[in-house]
Amino acid sequence: MTVAALKKLTILAPSVILLVMAYLAIPHIAALPPPQHELALLSPYLFIATGLILSFAFSRGRAFFVLLLLAGFYWFFRTYLQHGLSDFLPRVVFQFLCLLIPLNITIFCHVRERGVFTLSGRMRFAFLAMQLAAVAWIIRYREDYGQVPLFFSRPFLDIPFISDSPVPQVAWLVAIIGFVLVLYRVVIHKSPIDSGLLGALVAVFIAFNTLTVGDFPLVFIAAAAFILAVSVLQDSHNMAFRDDLTGLPSRRALNEQMLSMGRQYTIAMLDVDHFKIFNDTHGHDVGDQVLKMVAKKIGAVKGGGRPFRYGGEEFTIVFPRRKMGDAIPFLEDVRSAISAYELSIRSKDRPKKAEEGKKKRNAGHGDKTVSVTISIGVAESSDSLRLPDDVIKAADKALYRAKSKGRNQVSR
Ligand code: GH3
Ligand code: MG
Ligand code: MG
Repeated sequence: MTVAALKKLTILAPSVILLVMAYLAIPHIAALPPPQHELALLSPYLFIATGLILSFAFSRGRAFFVLLLLAGFYWFFRTYLQHGLSDFLPRVVFQFLCLLIPLNITIFCHVRERGVFTLSGRMRFAFLAMQLAAVAWIIRYREDYGQVPLFFSRPFLDIPFISDSPVPQVAWLVAIIGFVLVLYRVVIHKSPIDSGLLGALVAVFIAFNTLTVGDFPLVFIAAAAFILAVSVLQDSHNMAFRDDLTGLPSRRALNEQMLSMGRQYTIAMLDVDHFKIFNDTHGHDVGDQVLKMVAKKIGAVKGGGRPFRYGGEEFTIVFPRRKMGDAIPFLEDVRSAISAYELSIRSKDRPKKAEEGKKKRNAGHGDKTVSVTISIGVAESSDSLRLPDDVIKAADKALYRAKSKGRNQVSR
C-alpha cells in the first residue's frame, strides 16, 4: 500500500480506536458493582443525547437521524430484547432492526447534508416514520403478513460463522454491501461524518451479533453514538479550517501552520491582478468562478508547497524547509499555468434555442473565454526575519514590487 493510500485511511483512525477501546472496556464494565452497573446501562442514552445535541447544533442531519435510530434500538433492546429472542415480537422486531439500521446508515451516508429541521430534514423524519409504521403494520396484521419476517429470517446458505449468528442472512448481505459502499465514500470524500457512519455501522452490527452476550450490546451501542458525536465535532472543526468557495485551507489554517514552522521556510503571497476591474466587467459570479480556477492551480503547486486562501483574491503558499531560490521555480509554474488558462464563460444573453445560438456564435456573440494573471511576492526566513509574521510582511512587500514592475510575475 502506498503512503498516499495510507494517508487517506487516517480519517478512519478515530472510529477504529474507539471500537477497540469499547472492546477493551467490556470486562471492566462487567466487573462494576450493581449500582454503578445500573448507571453504565444508561450511558448509551447519555452518548446518544450528546450526539443529538451536537448534530442539531451544527446542523448535521445525517448523523442526527442515525443517532435517532440508535436511540430506538437501545430503547427496544432494554425493553424487549435483552432476555432473548424466543418470543414472537422481540424476534421479528430484531430482524427488522438488523435489516433497517445498516440500510439506513448506508442511505444517510450517500444523501446530501440537508440539516435537521429543514424541509428535507422533515422529509427524512417522515421517511423514518414510514419504516416504523410499516414494521408496526406487519406485526399488527401478522396473520396476513407473517410470511414477510419468516422470509427475512430464512437461512439461505450454510456459512459457518454466519449461520450461528442471530442476525438474518439477508441483513448480513445488506450490512456487507453497506460497509463496502460506505467505505468507498470515506476513501473518496474523506469526510469525518462518513467515517463516523462507518464506525457506527460496524458497532451496531457487533451489537446485533452479541445481543445476549453480557455487556456487548450496551458497550457497542454506546460506542456507535460516541463515534458519531466525535465525527460531528471533527467535521465542524474541519469546516472552520477550510474555505468554502475554493476548498483550500483557510486563513485560520495558515495561522495554525505558522505555529509549527521550523527554522528554514519560504512564504509566497499571491494576488490576482486587476481583479476589481475584472469583477466590474464580468460580474461577481464570473469572478467567483475565476477564483475557483486560480485556487485549483494554486492547490496543485509542487515542491511541497502548502496552499491557503489568505482572504478575498489573495492566497498564500508556504514551503516548509525550503530555501527561496528552490521555491521560485514552483511558483513560476503556478503563475504561468494561471496566465495560460482560458476559462470559458456563458454570456448573459445566451439564447435558449440551439439554432439561434449557432447563428450568434458564428457572428461572434456566443460563449467567450476570459483569463487572468497573478502576481507573486516571496520571502524566506532568515536571521533578520525570524517570525513567520515578519516573513509574510516581507513577502507582501515583494508582492507590491511585482505589481509595480508590471504584474504577472514573481518578485523577491
Ligand atoms: P491589483 O492588481 O493591484 O491587485 O488590483 P485589484 O483590482 O486586484 O486590487 P484589489 O486587491 O484592491 O482588489 C480586490 C478585489 O477583489 C476587490 C473585490 O472586488 C474582489 N474580491 C475579493 N474577494 C472576492 C470574492 O470572493 N469573489 C469575487 N468575485 N471578488 C472578490
Ligand atoms: Mg488584493
Ligand atoms: Mg488584486
